[in-house]
Amino acid sequence: MSELPFRIGHGYDLHRLTDGRKLILGGVEVPHEQGLLGHSDADCLTHALADAIFGALGLPDIGHYFPDDHPENEGLESVQILAKAVEECESAGYSVGNADLTILAQRPKMAPHIESIKNSLSKTLKIAPSQIGIKATTNEVLGPIGREEAIASFAVCLLIRKQV
Ligand code: MG
Repeated sequence: MSELPFRIGHGYDLHRLTDGRKLILGGVEVPHEQGLLGHSDADCLTHALADAIFGALGLPDIGHYFPDDHPENEGLESVQILAKAVEECESAGYSVGNADLTILAQRPKMAPHIESIKNSLSKTLKIAPSQIGIKATTNEVLGPIGREEAIASFAVCLLIRKQV
């Protein structure tokens, strides 16, 4: 891998909302009457962030590392997916600089959960919570997100080459 001083990556993910599932975002259970549907815990925020890291490294997306048709990935905690991305980052000679994330959800209100999500992600990323930005927006009642059929997330992440 070329020894760029910085590498930047972008990730996006969306999962469908459904009854009878927990809502997990950034590794935190957010109280809500519905949760996200998926083979894993369907944590779209963590998936977008992991894809941003894989993308920054020029690696394939999370579906390559954790295929959704493999039974061993059923119910997988997405924090493990993020940990794999961090492992790849470190073995390529980089550490995570900062990450900026956006959650698109009509409901529930995310503000009360932002700090605990930052704390959760910072542990896996091995950075301080202050190196993570998390914003949440509704979709102005428009489209599948606005109709509360889905929650989506965007992530941008900067990687910094470790001094050797
Ligand atoms: Mg996903």
